[in-house]
Amino acid sequence: MAEQTEHFEPGERAPDSGIYECECGYHHQWRMDVAGDPLPEFPPGCPSSKWIFIGEQPVG
Ligand SMILES: [Zn+2]
Repeated sequence: MAEQTEHFEPGERAPDSGIYECECGYHHQWRMDVAGDPLPEFPPGCPSSKWIFIGEQPVG
């Protein structure tokens, strides 16, 4: 099982279901219920360019 951090762009297919968080520092999070669905665009005002897969549960 890989423990490395993985980064994904909006529109890229989510490799796993679970929580994805932006990298802007405001911890915008998005739950992907189905692996293989495309990741969403970032919310308004979010300057992030990548989603980071953080696992099955929200952090913080
Ligand atoms: Zn953000």
